[in-house]
Amino acid sequence: MEECIFCKIIRGEIPGKFVYRDTQVVAFHDISPKAPVHVLVVPVKHIESVREITPEDQELMGLLMLKVKDIAKKLGIALSGYKVVVNNGESAGQLVFHLHLHLLGGWKKSPGWEV
Ligand code: 5GP
Ligand code: ZN
Repeated sequence: MEECIFCKIIRGEIPGKFVYRDTQVVAFHDISPKAPVHVLVVPVKHIESVREITPEDQELMGLLMLKVKDIAKKLGIALSGYKVVVNNGESAGQLVFHLHLHLLGGWKKSPGWEV
């Protein structure tokens, strides 16, 4: 069983403020938001980073992006605009080695927040 923090959130061992979940994808609020809306969209499958993606994950990767679109709409930021960020590797700022997409939005006018 994976000891990673996002696997623990997915299994319910650590609390998470979920905005979406199904058998393949979950989304929960970032504990330390870098934007007015900051949600992490995460595959249930433990993949460390983009580097570990395999051709078998092709459909799952597409699904993640479709869920980003749906969740942005659900959170009311679809029309105002949002960023989708994936940090890969330590020098890029990846802290949690379970692949995740940062969905950032909700600014009034211009972003003003950088990640
Ligand atoms: P990374 O730097 O790996 O791209 O992003 C990891 C993100 O996970 C960070 O934005 C950090 O705030 C968030 N994070 C770390 N630990 C937890 C946690 O226990 N719960 C939640 N909801 N977010 C976390
Ligand atoms: Zn994991």
